[in-house]
Amino acid sequence: MKKVVKFGGSSLASAEQFQKVGAIIHADEDRKFVVPSAPGKRFDEDTKVTDMLYACYALAEKDHDFTKEINRIEERYQQIIDGLELDLDLSSEFDRIIDNFKKKAGSDYAASRGEYLNGIIMANYLGYEFIDPAEALRFNEAGIFDAELTNKLLIKRLEGVERAVIPGFYGAMGDGRVKTFSRGGSDITGSIVAKAIQADVYENWTDVSGFLIADPRIIKDPKGIDIITYGELRELSYMGAGVLHEDAIFPVRKEGIPINIRNTNKPEDEGTWIVGNTCQKAKYTITGIAGKKGFASINIEKDMMNAEVGFGRKVLQVFEDYNISFEHMPSGIDTLSVMVHQSEFVDKEQKILSGINRAVNPDHVDIQSDLALIAVVGRCMKSQRGTAGRIFAALSHASVNVRMIDQGSSEQNIIIGVVNEDFETAIKAIYDIFVETRI
Ligand code: ASP
Repeated sequence: MKKVVKFGGSSLASAEQFQKVGAIIHADEDRKFVVPSAPGKRFDEDTKVTDMLYACYALAEKDHDFTKEINRIEERYQQIIDGLELDLDLSSEFDRIIDNFKKKAGSDYAASRGEYLNGIIMANYLGYEFIDPAEALRFNEAGIFDAELTNKLLIKRLEGVERAVIPGFYGAMGDGRVKTFSRGGSDITGSIVAKAIQADVYENWTDVSGFLIADPRIIKDPKGIDIITYGELRELSYMGAGVLHEDAIFPVRKEGIPINIRNTNKPEDEGTWIVGNTCQKAKYTITGIAGKKGFASINIEKDMMNAEVGFGRKVLQVFEDYNISFEHMPSGIDTLSVMVHQSEFVDKEQKILSGINRAVNPDHVDIQSDLALIAVVGRCMKSQRGTAGRIFAALSHASVNVRMIDQGSSEQNIIIGVVNEDFETAIKAIYDIFVETRI
């Protein structure tokens, strides 16, 4: 068995956390490929090393003195080295980094040093080989990740390598310039490595014991999710954001490699398994509830719309022209609504409205703003009667007015639109009926 283990910033924020990580790795022979993040926060008001590096580089870029700032970063690493009693000296690494900062190597280069240095420490601590991802993770000239080339290069680079530490978050372009993923991108690196070595499992170690059925800021002590499919997780993408980078599922999903989200501070917890498919029934009819506020709905009415070929395309073309992606598009016989993120839409609103008028000459267009969308997701919904009935009965008892309903063709999600103020009440009502009452 081969496992890739990725550890997030809070799991590697101090020597003490490194020790927990070391114990986790040594507890299982199969944990052969380690992907570390940069040191994260040790306590609430602390600053992540990645943020320190960005701030430091911002000074360097303006030719300001950054000695104090870089020294603080060096101190953070030195504390870890001292705490682990390692025979390791990073001063020549720091000399090179300072030099490259002065040469304006770029903010991606700067940020990537967080994972790079943590990787060196981790490799030294574990006695594993250190592999710089700049050697194998490729981005094209436009800065877009090149999955195919990376996979080839990485397979080649890892040939014959038994155990290695590969820092997360970055790679390089063809000319050697360092390029990072978006924030939280070490999750993606873990997934890429898991694919290249055809791992049996990709373990993603963080500071929570997996996904929860609902947001703990809304539901007190919500139950955890034991197992979720990739498809369900996509439907719940509003929820996963804080735990796992959205793009991390794609490399492993195609390969059928499961992801296991685990808690470094509670390694005994099983965490959440993210799998391609499962015959395991979820404990409850629904797997999860997630949502987001701040949507607007553009409602278009036109008699005989249903008979007008190309109507939908023309409407969507207007949104595309203004580079706005739509979230949902519920329709009636003579009506069509396009739901968008209000913050993206608001500045272009009038242009889009006149664009729609020109494109399809509607009878009436109105806009509803300040809407929230709630996704109720569950693979078991398909084969069960009455799920929608229970959701809407619960919402009606809670006096929530439903403004929009949309069921995905996979029949594993029901999307509900409510006004922003009803968002929390609606989630509580749905959680209650399926998890607490469990009728
Ligand atoms: N260190 C990077 C960040 O803070 C990447 C990561 O931790 O995944 O976003």
